[in-house]
Amino acid sequence: MRIDIGALLAGKTGSVSFDERLPRPDGFDGIEFEDEVSVSGVIKNSAGYISLSAELSVPYRTNCARCAAVITGTFTKSFSRVLTTRAEDKNPGSGERADDYTDDYIVISDDSVELLDPVLEEIFLGFDSVYYCKPDCKGLCPVCGKDLNTGDCGCSSKKEIDPRLLPLAALLKKDEEDGKE
Ligand SMILES: [Zn+2]
Ligand SMILES: [Zn+2]
Repeated sequence: MRIDIGALLAGKTGSVSFDERLPRPDGFDGIEFEDEVSVSGVIKNSAGYISLSAELSVPYRTNCARCAAVITGTFTKSFSRVLTTRAEDKNPGSGERADDYTDDYIVISDDSVELLDPVLEEIFLGFDSVYYCKPDCKGLCPVCGKDLNTGDCGCSSKKEIDPRLLPLAALLKKDEEDGKE
């Protein structure tokens, strides 16, 4: 997704607006994308300082980390970058901590800028590692696999016998054993 900013660089205009679409990105970490990425924004030239501000949005789907229910939504993110004409400008000042600066710059080549990498980077960094269908999702029963959001399955009550009933349970067990003889 290249944006032509020739007119901006030539001083014929102070800003270039764009509204573009990127091909559907590959999924990662359990996130799948359902459509293209919409990216719109503006590139401005303020006395030689060229900056981009944009907003992206893309529909996605994933699964609840507890109950595996399908979760769909639209991921949106605003981001900005500084545009520079030379690669060495990516490392302004003393050169310390160059890596921190690099990501915030886009190098202009052939009077245009390529937004694919910055957009994919914003998407990749913008997602959480786990999603829940709701904050208090009860998840699946580890014994029978029932979705506990739809009701109790009874497994937990079988596992944990009420301590007040323990003497009774022992009697029942004794009866069982006696009956075998
Ligand atoms: Zn869930
Ligand atoms: Zn169960």
